[in-house]
Amino acid sequence: MSTQAPEIIYMDNNATTAIAPEVLEAMLPYLQEYYGNPSSMYDFARYSALAMAKAREQVAGLIGAHVDEIVFTSCGTESDSTAIFSALRRFPEKNHIVTTRVEHPAVKTLCDNMENLSGRKYHVTRLQVEADGTLDMQQYRDSLTDDTAIVSVMWANNETGVIFPVEEMARIAKERGILFHTDAVQAVGKIPINLAETAIDFLALSGHKLHAPKGIGVLYIRKGAPYMPFLNGGHQEHGRRGGTENVASIVALGRACELAAANMEVENTRVRALRDKLENGLLTSIPKVLLNGNKHMRLPNTTNISFEYVEGEAILLHLNRHHICASSGSACTSGSLEPSHVLRAMGVPFTAAHGSIRFSLSPYNTETEVDKVLEVLPEIIAELRNLSPFWEENSN
Ligand code: PLP
Repeated sequence: MSTQAPEIIYMDNNATTAIAPEVLEAMLPYLQEYYGNPSSMYDFARYSALAMAKAREQVAGLIGAHVDEIVFTSCGTESDSTAIFSALRRFPEKNHIVTTRVEHPAVKTLCDNMENLSGRKYHVTRLQVEADGTLDMQQYRDSLTDDTAIVSVMWANNETGVIFPVEEMARIAKERGILFHTDAVQAVGKIPINLAETAIDFLALSGHKLHAPKGIGVLYIRKGAPYMPFLNGGHQEHGRRGGTENVASIVALGRACELAAANMEVENTRVRALRDKLENGLLTSIPKVLLNGNKHMRLPNTTNISFEYVEGEAILLHLNRHHICASSGSACTSGSLEPSHVLRAMGVPFTAAHGSIRFSLSPYNTETEVDKVLEVLPEIIAELRNLSPFWEENSN
């Protein structure tokens, strides 16, 4: 493979995003000239400390938080783990976690593992979703008990883009005196968030989903929320997360949040229009396709479409020939194709779950790129279906 990046059509922004040029420009001085440790006493280190303070304001500004509520971490996964472990350790007498069947592995695997601990037994309720990926609020209310230590529900789903009513869910949890955490890794920067007006106690976000680099995240901790650090060490982040801060990436995340806040309305209107053009084009030009996820309660950049009787992996390989990057709802592991747990929870039929493709756009996508996908994908699907014995049996 050549080391020269080819011209690509990148529509996998829920996996990761390009670093914005403005973000790169903001962070470079902190990789080169201003390398001081922000905890050091001399003036040179103050450049780093001041830059971090500014970034904290920029992050807080995007999500309607106070600067003291922002804790920098290494990624979204760390933020999720920290919030959940914190609640379990602060309330050792409680053994119950409420979450959903469609969480990202950052929450799902942790909950699965907590249930299978030897010695201590945690009990996990995983809320079922409807066929369109939305939640039944009565089921949620009924799941809360006096034993519940924390609720962890994602703000927006990474595969379908479906948005959950986490503000209302947090209010309900608060009425019961239960802590509420949301994995907002896919929501931050794509939809307006004002934490000051919510009862959410913890929120996880990740830099590389909003045009900052990989390896930087934030845990929002509501002022006064019971908390216990996960990484114990130095006094960084006011003792809430040990470890020397990743100053350059923190600066980058701050700038990315500032850009997202300034451009959200305009950019997302444009991105939504591109997404809708792509989605409508595919749904009308290709037979036997299904849209996965509620059409309205959805992130503006995401569409997840099933092409029946075709393997998602095969579609991706053919798209790759045209330098088009997307992702599929099944993961090919050791020769067996496992359909996504999200689509399975929604009850998407087997033949459709296997052929699902997620396109996730960003402000860097263009109409020409959408036109290119609309030109090549119908041909790819027709070609693959011609090779499929199942298609012959089911095409009418
Ligand atoms: N939560 C969601 C919903 C995600 O989509 C992701 C990344 O794909 C994560 C958590 C993990 O974030 P990170 O890669 O920063 O650990």
